[in-house]
Amino acid sequence: MNNSDYENYIKLKDQLNIYRRQYYTEDAPTVQDFEYDRLYQELLKVESAHPEWVTNDSPSQNVGGAINSAFPKFRHEIPMLSMDDVFSLEESQASAERIKKFVNQTDVEFNLELKIDGLALSLIYENGRLVKGSTRGDGFVGEDITPNIFQIDDVPKTIPLKERIEVRGECYLGKDSFAELNNKRLEDGKSTFANPRNAAAGSLRQLDSSITKSRHLQTFIYFVIEPENYGLKTQSEALKQLQEWGFATNNQNRVVNDFKEVQNYIDEYQEKRLDLPYNIDGIVFKVNDFKLQSLLGNTVKVPRWEFAYKFPPIEAHTHLRTIEWTV
Ligand code: NAD
Repeated sequence: MNNSDYENYIKLKDQLNIYRRQYYTEDAPTVQDFEYDRLYQELLKVESAHPEWVTNDSPSQNVGGAINSAFPKFRHEIPMLSMDDVFSLEESQASAERIKKFVNQTDVEFNLELKIDGLALSLIYENGRLVKGSTRGDGFVGEDITPNIFQIDDVPKTIPLKERIEVRGECYLGKDSFAELNNKRLEDGKSTFANPRNAAAGSLRQLDSSITKSRHLQTFIYFVIEPENYGLKTQSEALKQLQEWGFATNNQNRVVNDFKEVQNYIDEYQEKRLDLPYNIDGIVFKVNDFKLQSLLGNTVKVPRWEFAYKFPPIEAHTHLRTIEWTV
């Protein structure tokens, strides 16, 4: 073993864990996401060359961050996982091919969705009534934030379904609400939030529910736990059903069969993202068929049936486009 390589690895791991605490637990990141992503990819590269160095405290083995709040803890019946990231079209294609190989099929339908830059949320309904709302936390245990969930206007408090159901999605702060909130904080001499994602996380985890209400949080619900219990066969069908039940869903999804369609969708939303009223940081690829999703299963950290293509940071992207136009 090369000692200095190992020491550098430990330093990188410690630095990433500090960034994770700032981001997930304190809602106060000190580096941009693309910088975190770059260092995390570096960590993964070292770990794949030295699997013997990987211990339980590595960011590659953990979802989210430690819970450090006054909210009661809530144990998820089914863990809330993270997602694998890719950073180029070539890598997206390679990931899609790996999935096809895994299920031994040449054609696999993907449902493409916008990756909303917010925080994951779980909602449980019993006898048609909202009974529990929680955050992801470390994936196994989240925070019970039920009183605050009742303050989000677009979360239905009742649904036309008697069976118990858990749904999950993203809680976010729209661009206008974010600007309004930060302006108000500046006026009041308070520190501003770094980005809408952190503002949403801070707003959802307020001990005073009236503060949560004043922040105008919104949701997009995209996930039904055990969808087959409700007769659902595909992710695109689940999104339609969620909307019929009264949830806020994002209807910009698209079912695709070939890579040209993927490319078109990514190009389209890379352009449109600046005009959307909420922040997105990429495109999520989900195997559409729930039977295939079950076949693929999960690793300790991520489902094998979905991954995200992360957009380049806006500055870099604008720069690239400028170069394209001027040559
Ligand atoms: P992630 O945010 O990359 O992806 C998983 C999450 O995507 C899910 O939990 C869900 O909340 C969300 N999501 C949004 N739209 C979705 C959709 N349509 N379908 C399914 N899920 C959707 O993973 P993560 O583990 O939550 O966070 C890792 C990311 O957080 C990093 O890539 C990095 O950008 C950021 N981060 C930044 C810092 C920092 O210091 N800046 C630190 C830690 C993490």
